[in-house]
Amino acid sequence: MDRLTCPHIKRDGSICDNNCTRLVGCLLHWKSGANKLLKTPCRICDEPTLSYTGFCSKHAKKIYHRVERERKRQQDVLSHITL
Ligand SMILES: [Zn+2]
Ligand SMILES: [Zn+2]
Repeated sequence: MDRLTCPHIKRDGSICDNNCTRLVGCLLHWKSGANKLLKTPCRICDEPTLSYTGFCSKHAKKIYHRVERERKRQQDVLSHITL
């Protein structure tokens, strides 16, 4: 695996350059959300988010619940078929 360094540019203009495992930067800067360019806006409210779902944490929860419900219903249907 390639060695990655944090691409975050600090306030003094220098690059953080910390070793990191993520392309988006070291844990410190990834968490602080400093790399706004790498974020995608939530599909509902345009809040910048790093979530793979494409939704902010607020909306991702709602979507997740809907997906879960859908999955359970499908499982119910399948169990009726196999019985
Ligand atoms: Zn960093
Ligand atoms: Zn949102």
